[in-house]
Amino acid sequence: MPSYTDTVAAIGNTPLIRLNYLSDETGCEILGKAEFMNPGGSVKDRAALGIVRDAEAKGLLRPGGIIVEGTAGNTGIGLAVVGNCLGYRSIIVMPDNQSQDKIDTLKSYCDDVRLVPAVPLKDPNHFTKVSQRIAEELNTDKPGSAMWANQFNNTANREFHEQTTGPEIWAQTDGNVDGFICSVGTGGTLAGIARALKSRKSAVSIGLADPEGSALYNFFAHGELKSEGSSISEGIGNSRVTDNLQGTPIDTQYQLPDSESIPLVYEMIRREGLSLGGSSGVNVAGAVRLARELGPGHTIVTILCDGAMRYRARLFNRPYLAERGLELPDWLNI
Ligand code: PMP
Repeated sequence: MPSYTDTVAAIGNTPLIRLNYLSDETGCEILGKAEFMNPGGSVKDRAALGIVRDAEAKGLLRPGGIIVEGTAGNTGIGLAVVGNCLGYRSIIVMPDNQSQDKIDTLKSYCDDVRLVPAVPLKDPNHFTKVSQRIAEELNTDKPGSAMWANQFNNTANREFHEQTTGPEIWAQTDGNVDGFICSVGTGGTLAGIARALKSRKSAVSIGLADPEGSALYNFFAHGELKSEGSSISEGIGNSRVTDNLQGTPIDTQYQLPDSESIPLVYEMIRREGLSLGGSSGVNVAGAVRLARELGPGHTIVTILCDGAMRYRARLFNRPYLAERGLELPDWLNI
């Protein structure tokens, strides 16, 4: 086991885990990159570190400066982890419809969490725009004091995945990877890994796993940004093509209803010993679809984004699930 000089150095280099049950079911090797093992507990630690290192290099973030971001939560946790370790303050703006567990986790890391009503992107009070304004105002008062992370359009996000997550997957599979699939929030994960893998092996099949309620499936399948339905998964789905996602070489796309992805969250706990959040359920469901499309004998990698405990008041809440037509299996002893 490596030892690290600080917390930030422990971001990345996550294990790649064979998902035995799903591999046996499909006749493929289905492998999950254990991003929930990052210090902040999610894949977004990587985007946070990539964005901070890029801003430091460009002189946009100075010693003792303030990181400002709008986030569904995990990027805020990642930025606060990085900020607390490297001596930056953070101000995090978050829509108020996210899980309480995630809000509480973020508050434990960061003393300035601002919850705003969840409104559509075009609204001037969308959480991303509020965070941009806060950074601008801080910089007007004191030039150079704050850095707006801008995770959706700041391509330092995808570049970090291209430089770290993608090459790690390549090395961990000895280049024997036939498919990679995951869901998209900012698109940094999918775009960065897709670029890294395609540049090494153009035949790698890149898949988008999109939850209902997101417009991206229709965009890649039919050229139209159109959404239908909804999902209890958090941090994924989008109504637009971000700068990070722009130009990603996507070969195939699937729309995954919660009725397909959420039961897999429960199966993974009991069959694999992996307790994961809803977006990981979408990713794993996407990996199964890609396995069926490619056929037996292929190796498919996906991302295990974060843990179920960040959503326990929803994922393990029978009345909440029932209202959405979902069910907690009786064999899950909760
Ligand atoms: N899963 C979870 C739980 C997330 O918080 C996010 C990011 N919001 C993603 C997946 C998607 O990652 P990306 O932003 O790199 O597309």
